[in-house]
Amino acid sequence: MANSDPKPGEVVPRSDEIARQEYVRQGMLTGDEATHRSLASQFGMPIFLDISTYRLPREYYKKVPYAFAKRHVVMPIKEEAGAVLVAVSDPLNMEPLEELRLMLDTDIKAVYSPRETILNAINEAYRQETGAASELIAQMGEGEAKEGEVEVYDLLDENSLQSPIVKLLNLILIEAIQQGSSDIHFEPLEDTLRVRYRIDGVLQARHSPAQEFQAQLLTRIKVMARLDIAEHRLPQDGRIKLKMGRREIDFRVSTVPVVGGERIVLRILDKGNVILGLDKIGMQPAMYEDFRRLIEIPEGIILVTGPTGSGKTTTLYSAICELYNDETNIMTIEDPVEYNLKGIAQIGVQPKIKLDFATGLRHILRQDPDIIMIGEIRDLETAEIAIQAALTGHLVLSTLHTNDAPSAITRLVDMGIEPYLLSSSIVGVGAQRLLRRICSECKRSYVPNDRELESLGVERKDLHEGVLHQGAGCSVCFGSGYKGRHGVYEMMVVNNALKRQIVKSPDAVELRKIALESGMSTLLDHGKDLVLQGITTIAEVLRVTKGSEDKF
Ligand SMILES: [Zn+2]
Repeated sequence: MANSDPKPGEVVPRSDEIARQEYVRQGMLTGDEATHRSLASQFGMPIFLDISTYRLPREYYKKVPYAFAKRHVVMPIKEEAGAVLVAVSDPLNMEPLEELRLMLDTDIKAVYSPRETILNAINEAYRQETGAASELIAQMGEGEAKEGEVEVYDLLDENSLQSPIVKLLNLILIEAIQQGSSDIHFEPLEDTLRVRYRIDGVLQARHSPAQEFQAQLLTRIKVMARLDIAEHRLPQDGRIKLKMGRREIDFRVSTVPVVGGERIVLRILDKGNVILGLDKIGMQPAMYEDFRRLIEIPEGIILVTGPTGSGKTTTLYSAICELYNDETNIMTIEDPVEYNLKGIAQIGVQPKIKLDFATGLRHILRQDPDIIMIGEIRDLETAEIAIQAALTGHLVLSTLHTNDAPSAITRLVDMGIEPYLLSSSIVGVGAQRLLRRICSECKRSYVPNDRELESLGVERKDLHEGVLHQGAGCSVCFGSGYKGRHGVYEMMVVNNALKRQIVKSPDAVELRKIALESGMSTLLDHGKDLVLQGITTIAEVLRVTKGSEDKF
């Protein structure tokens, strides 16, 4: 406070009042528990240090706008003796409570909570209370659509929800995030725009707003992604960065012209949604041990294979987190950098300025790295540099787009790498998939028939109590019977027998045979195990491992 020069006649607060206000504000911002307690008692207010478990019925949050709650840091938390308890963080500013009393049309009793606690609770409550996109689509009549406004930073801020199109898009994004989607698809069909979410790896149809909103919705997305809104004939790529409460969420946007309009896919890169840790990603104990031993080898290449969206990056990130320490320089080149890892130098590929995997990798090698992660080996040049790096004392981790572990070797030879270079540099190849877990809300047991058991190669005597499990379908899993995912893995440790075979003939079938003889457990083996444990279903294992054993 800088009022050291009062004008004549001005009423100056007593200095101890200034000091008290200063103390209160300091306490509110930085206070520890003792300060908070002393503040609350000074003002004779009950104190609630944790309000995360209190929640009023949703009508209350509909009456109080998010922007209001956030601006004044006030949060109605519970009903008590005919009044509503409202958490406030500033006992010197009771004016918003008057307004709140009018909004809620009830008696109000202020209680004290730390500022951060209230802000968290507001974000949590309003994230859950935001209405469903489908409600809005139902309400949106013809002709209501107006050209969308440009700026949206906070998805929950009602000020950005003036235009129905902006509101609809925001609701779709919020809903998709809340339901744990990885991608949102906007597809023009003949008479409607189909909106689908990819949840746990499978597309699910959600909305079909009328076609007249199509152009505006797509334009809105393009504006947010800073794409050329006038360009309808060429594919475009962009990014959107959004805030939802305190969470920051990145979207990768891709548009492609198709018959009938433009198809837009938003890939959600939710930084708050990743679980890292080799012991947390669902590897079997023996596999985990193998993988741990491999990443501790100081030089060589470890590859993880699988289709897009099979969790390869998560596995590599988990390995890196395990290897991270003060004595090691870990650097990555990725397309794009999906999650920021603390203490790791991550480089994103940028084709526009000619920074591709190969170029980035060359620069990394001049930065004295110990461990290098390459997002994906797609071309001969990158593969060559990776092998060179591995042969000169670096541990290289990367991914390859093949169906199973042995095929990775064949693929690299097909790219043009000499087999003897592979046999001396590759120490291990993993393959993985993500399969859907049975929804725990509607899980039930059943007696499988012989044909089913046969399709997965399971014997009846292996079943626990003669049954398997499946999801009946409920509101939690949107009728799919599945909720959440679990990894399945196979790991081919390159031993001497495999090295000899790689040089002799890098044939995937032969390599697989030798790997199995050496005790490799396959994706299918792991999947079977999860079926017997009641974690997933036979159909799901067959779905995700399809193609991994076709040719054997
Ligand atoms: Zn369910």
